[in-house]
Amino acid sequence: MYGLMMDHPLTLAQILEHAYRIHTDKHVTTLLPNGTLHRYDYATLYGRVKRLANALTELGIQRGDRIATYAANTYQHLELYYAIPCLGAVLHPLNVRLSPTQLAQIVHEAEDKLVFVDSAYATQFQALQDKMGPIHTVYFGPKSPDTDTCYEQLFSDAKPAYTWDIRDENSAMGLCYTSGTHGEPRGVLYTHRSMFLHTLAANQADVFGLTETDVVLPIVPMFHAMAWGLPYASMFAGADIVLPGTKITAIADLIADTGVTVAAGVPTIWAAAYPELQKRRTDISSLRRVIVGGEAMPHALIESYEKELGVEICHAWGMTEMSPTGTLSKLRAGHQNLTDTEKWRIKAKQGRPIPGVQLRLAAETADGFKELPWDGKTIGELQVRSPWTANRYYKIAPTPEHFTTDKWLRTGDMATIDAEGYVQIVDRAKSLIRSGGESISSIALETALLKHPYVREAAVVGIPDDKWGERPIAVVVCTEKGGENISDTLRQQLAAEFPKFWIPDKFVFADEIPKTSVGKSDKRAILTQLTGTQNPTEKNRIFSPTQKK
Ligand code: ADP
Repeated sequence: MYGLMMDHPLTLAQILEHAYRIHTDKHVTTLLPNGTLHRYDYATLYGRVKRLANALTELGIQRGDRIATYAANTYQHLELYYAIPCLGAVLHPLNVRLSPTQLAQIVHEAEDKLVFVDSAYATQFQALQDKMGPIHTVYFGPKSPDTDTCYEQLFSDAKPAYTWDIRDENSAMGLCYTSGTHGEPRGVLYTHRSMFLHTLAANQADVFGLTETDVVLPIVPMFHAMAWGLPYASMFAGADIVLPGTKITAIADLIADTGVTVAAGVPTIWAAAYPELQKRRTDISSLRRVIVGGEAMPHALIESYEKELGVEICHAWGMTEMSPTGTLSKLRAGHQNLTDTEKWRIKAKQGRPIPGVQLRLAAETADGFKELPWDGKTIGELQVRSPWTANRYYKIAPTPEHFTTDKWLRTGDMATIDAEGYVQIVDRAKSLIRSGGESISSIALETALLKHPYVREAAVVGIPDDKWGERPIAVVVCTEKGGENISDTLRQQLAAEFPKFWIPDKFVFADEIPKTSVGKSDKRAILTQLTGTQNPTEKNRIFSPTQKK
């Protein structure tokens, strides 16, 4: 028997229409390259999105066509986040930090019809264009002899009225490639339904908890897992949005100038921003919460933000494949009487599944997967399913490496889950160090190293070893004052917490740790340099001239 309720499709047009009708005077602010702020209200954005939909239709864009963006976090990019999916086409944000060769392959695989290019990236886009061959481009900036079309010109020639007409909520709305931390980037094709449901889930009080009184700053790039869904979640809640353009360095100024209440980005961003934010404690008092994910947020950094700045850290885990939110670390009512240290230890975990996400911990056996207990000790592979998780990759047939026969996504993350449902990522399966048949968690070692006041960044990798299979090596970046050799101190510090065989064989002191295109530690690059299997590129050079043993 079917129920008697409306079968009203869940589409992004509903989010846009709601934002316009109910929150029409809320604002979108963008930091422009010249340092000034561009500001307009939702009503203006709405009018422009409708004209843009007409302009795209005039350009011959049809339902299902993929349209790429090569852009920073700006109001133009936000307009495209709505106009493209709402007219039935597929938004494909390109990761501007990938190499031209990788991007040309991605554009080719996606069969993008058109690409919108941010003028701030015009020069670097040329290198990509040389690899891609001819493709229609629309530049955000003024028209030049090389420009096919200029963005603002689209508006002057376009009709203002447009009626959204997505009837099937399972139509594709966006295509995002994984950042390729391990292996090549793979395409994830979201539907209107999946993104709508992810938006509802993200906006729950115990998830991102955005409200109409918030001012949201997504520092996470709009090409990284759809900016974690924040462009949709913010506007559905009616929050003001602040977009940092290409300047992710002036975070404290931007927060102070625009009254940001919630900001989001990877831990690297928050580690780099901390000294500046600390100096400006009073002018950034509007900031109440930081959403952080993509990589483990170290315990010490959580403590600094919460204790010194009074900012709540929402540590979340997810994947491009999951739209991306899967878990979030919040304290439970029963945790309120714990000591601060115990509270931060819980918050440094990746957290509990958000409503709608199902998790299981699994071990592969000869007969398939066996479920493992949630005891906070047993390590297994994290598997997931939810209405906003991919069931296959774009143009790749599902393989047992990524999806189980009973249709769970294999995340590739090794984790424990405790009795309360808190997940703790031990490592990515590919980063887990196997030494003498035992596992060593690089994340646990890195977290412990970061407790030392002289350690600014740390990355631990397993290098091949004839006797043990693999042995850990720690690469450490010190704060300015920590010039002396601290290997012995670090060794002793780790020995107090971990078994002897976990202690890294060597501590390598570096100027910086190479990062992936979305700001995570690039362990593949570190390994390459440590084992010398490839020549390190100048950009990724990590060793200081005075390498210490
Ligand atoms: P890529 O797999 O190319 O890095 P994603 O950005 O989608 O692309 O990365 C998802 C992965 O990032 C997860 O599988 C996990 O390994 C890691 N990750 C995400 N959030 C966290 C977190 N809070 N703590 C630890 N690891 C995380």
